[in-house]
Amino acid sequence: MRSSHDNAGTILIIDDNLANLQVLFTTLKQANYHVVPAQDANSTFTRLRHFTPDLILLDIIMPDVNGFELYRRLREHPPTAATPIIFISALSDSEAIVRGFKLGAVDYVSKPFCAEEVLARVGKQLALQRLHHELEAKNARLEQELLERQRLEESLRQAKEQAESANRAKSAFIANMNHELRTPLNAILGFAQILENDPSLSEKHRHNVQNIRSGGDYLLTLINDILDLAKIEAGRFELFPQTWKTSPFFLSLCEMFRIRAQQKGIFFDYQSTTALPAVLHCDDKRLRQVLMNLLGNAVKFTERGGVTLRSTYLDGRLVLEVTDTGIGIPAAQTEKIFQPFGQVGDAAYKQQGTGLGLSISHRLVTAMGGKLSLESKPGEGSTFRVQIPAEAVSTLNEVDTQTDPAKIIGYQRSQGLGRFRILITDDLPDNRAVLRQLLEPLRFEVAEADSGEQCLTRVPQWQPDLVLMDLHMPVLDGLQTTKALRESLHFKDIPVIAVSASAFNKDQQLALEAGCNAHISKPVILNQLLVELGRFLPLEWLYEASAPPEVPKGPPLSKEQKQKLLHMLKQGEIKRIRDYLSDLSQQPDCPVAVPELQKLAKSFRMVEIRKILEEAK
Ligand code: ADP
Repeated sequence: MRSSHDNAGTILIIDDNLANLQVLFTTLKQANYHVVPAQDANSTFTRLRHFTPDLILLDIIMPDVNGFELYRRLREHPPTAATPIIFISALSDSEAIVRGFKLGAVDYVSKPFCAEEVLARVGKQLALQRLHHELEAKNARLEQELLERQRLEESLRQAKEQAESANRAKSAFIANMNHELRTPLNAILGFAQILENDPSLSEKHRHNVQNIRSGGDYLLTLINDILDLAKIEAGRFELFPQTWKTSPFFLSLCEMFRIRAQQKGIFFDYQSTTALPAVLHCDDKRLRQVLMNLLGNAVKFTERGGVTLRSTYLDGRLVLEVTDTGIGIPAAQTEKIFQPFGQVGDAAYKQQGTGLGLSISHRLVTAMGGKLSLESKPGEGSTFRVQIPAEAVSTLNEVDTQTDPAKIIGYQRSQGLGRFRILITDDLPDNRAVLRQLLEPLRFEVAEADSGEQCLTRVPQWQPDLVLMDLHMPVLDGLQTTKALRESLHFKDIPVIAVSASAFNKDQQLALEAGCNAHISKPVILNQLLVELGRFLPLEWLYEASAPPEVPKGPPLSKEQKQKLLHMLKQGEIKRIRDYLSDLSQQPDCPVAVPELQKLAKSFRMVEIRKILEEAK
């Protein structure tokens, strides 16, 4: 410990010889040291009660207690235990000098004193002492920093653990909620689909059922969105690239948004800048999800003008642009809208969405190795541009042909006779009823099992051609039941389609590993179910005979009518065209082309309208 005196250092000199003491005292005092003299052990310890020296000069030969003994006592006295001690000895007494060093003295000065030598040795020891103190202080600081870092690392580790456990809890919660929401939704959507196909329903009731169905569909989209976000956040999101036909993909997408745009009184246009390859390889379902979100937003945020979807294919990259003439997005807010729940603008618009779509789209496009960018001008409109790598494929083999389930009224067996037997295994009566009522009208013979155990008894008794298997059942669940079937001698090859309320890929994977041939999610969508049945049962679907084409009747458009229409077309007055066509359609001699023109006008197909009018010239 340094003394508090403001000087070059505090030195305690212990020597019984007053003359020596005097010489040393004066020499050191002149060099600006604070010097405290003591003549024996007693006076030494009395003085040490009031201060702590930086250095001690200790005479070896003293009458009462000699220097070596006093050295020992000074070392036992805690404040001086580490104070450097220089022995004072006669020059000839080398034995005493060696002993002093052995005890731990740092140096010695010899009598008679040479002032320079004393000052040099004292100065050196004090300098060493200072360095030693500095080193100790530095070590203490380092130790403190090390401790601090260890504390920080520990608290980081704990925070990470807490976050991970919260994440695990969140994932488990979402998985449970997902299951809990899908189960009742299965009944809502299932029965709505059954009712929609019921011919005894009045138009009004059918309309109401359609409302239930579209509400259910919206709920399902929401559940899927939240699940997607959770999966992406938890890093458990997977892509399923496959080959797909571009033409039906864009056709169905455009059809859907043409209708939506039309209902809003805005136009929808699709332009292909370069010829698209007929078949591409990438995750078409995710791409469709992204485009549905972008197109949905474009229609939602546009009140005048319309929406254009542009496609380009260049160097293995598919570029899709969704341009609208809507409200636009201020530059300062572009970052926010890509965040989960990020919405900007009017409250009325916010109510129409959740703010999840764009953040999901952005992550999906990034996961596909692509880019989602935005150019927008408030008040003028926005262009969202998706660029993703997509390989052009020459084979069509892997692409499934699209089936329109609404028109399927039954099936014909490709081999064998009679109706196919389907065993529905589900512990919930509503779920069984939905499947039964979806399948029976198509002439499938249906039986039910309300548990895994009952399924295993019914299969040999009733010998179904296929089993629909719920995965979550008490006691014997769907996975165990399927495994048991696969281990049986006679039914190891029976097709089993898992039907589960879990939309996690992991569960689908588990189902396939347990021996299920395919997996469909609840709520069951009829066309998905039929696609899977078609894969595992040798059958050909029978379609509702389409109504015979109506022979158009009526006179051709008059010259005046044509000119009027062409004029309105030039002015882009689509509303007036529609009104005019509607007037014409009320007339008893309605021109033959009017219904077709009305259809085209409804979906803003100006080019085709012009073609008809010009051909009619
Ligand atoms: P949602 O549309 O469900 O609110 P999104 O994540 O799809 O969620 O969009 C987030 C927000 O971005 C929207 O609420 C809107 O403020 C803004 N936005 C998205 N697309 C457009 C667009 N085409 N024009 C104007 N604003 C848009």
